[in-house]
Amino acid sequence: MEDYPRTLQELETRFSTEEACREYLARLRWPNGFVCSGCEGTEAWSTGRGLRMCAGCGRQMSVTAGTIFQGTRTPLTLWFRAIWWVVSQKNGASALGLQGVLGLGSYRTAWTWLHKIRRAMVRPGRDQLTGKVEVDETLVGGVESGGGRRYIGKKALVAIAAEVRGRAIGRIRMRCVADASGESLLPFVQQVIQPGTVVITDGFQGYSGLSELGYRHDRRVILGSGEAAHAVLPRVHRVTSLLKRWLLGTHQGAVSREHLDYYLDEFTFRFNRRTSRHRGKLFYRLLEQAVAVDPVPYAAMVKGIRGLKKKIRTPQHVVGT
Ligand SMILES: [Zn+2]
Repeated sequence: MEDYPRTLQELETRFSTEEACREYLARLRWPNGFVCSGCEGTEAWSTGRGLRMCAGCGRQMSVTAGTIFQGTRTPLTLWFRAIWWVVSQKNGASALGLQGVLGLGSYRTAWTWLHKIRRAMVRPGRDQLTGKVEVDETLVGGVESGGGRRYIGKKALVAIAAEVRGRAIGRIRMRCVADASGESLLPFVQQVIQPGTVVITDGFQGYSGLSELGYRHDRRVILGSGEAAHAVLPRVHRVTSLLKRWLLGTHQGAVSREHLDYYLDEFTFRFNRRTSRHRGKLFYRLLEQAVAVDPVPYAAMVKGIRGLKKKIRTPQHVVGT
């Protein structure tokens, strides 16, 4: 049963205490009832403060251990509001926005929260794309002249896969890749697309080898003008232009290459649920994934934060086309 608040008011009434938040997380974490990670026993006592004690072996487990909430000193009630706010932002969430709406003292705190939340946006071991899938790469980052379509320079190269659903786009996946070689592109395909799927690419060499990996490779060689590329891979190109517009509009293009994957996850989460009517449902999905994700130590996330504020205020860090 998917049980979630429908409005902000419902959220605030229902999750006004730590206990209510913890109980909700416990149900998401153990949807089929408690299971002890030590002895696999299924009976436990609540010992308060979000702890469960296994009736079989006495092991104590916290509802938040191993999730993005592990070790947080912030009340869960505030986390719930932050997540509600993030899913409510139609065009994506910014750290400045989150700081403002929750009245957080520091920009850095808001930024850290947002990155933790983004980490929960892509479910580990999520379903692979199937059917027919278009795959291509695109450069994201500062405008640089010369070098050609696959020249990276200071930009980041993003691999994109989009399912073909009639004339429309199904689900998408995207990730930063080191370069446009087969060693970089093929593992991306293997991670996000089920073997046996028809994979449509342009004639680029990096994709040769797909057949050997068990895919049905539909290779469409583009001859002549750049216009033809859009005709051959229209869905991926549509996703590409939406992504660039989103990075530019919501984040003013101020996304460092190092953290780009997090933003790609947020974009993917929103795109794949673009027809969901209830923000409550997005809230539910995000919390469900949040309790399934390993915590990221702050130090691992924070590399490169120093340049961040400066970038926010410097509009010339734009996303190229
Ligand atoms: Zn046990």
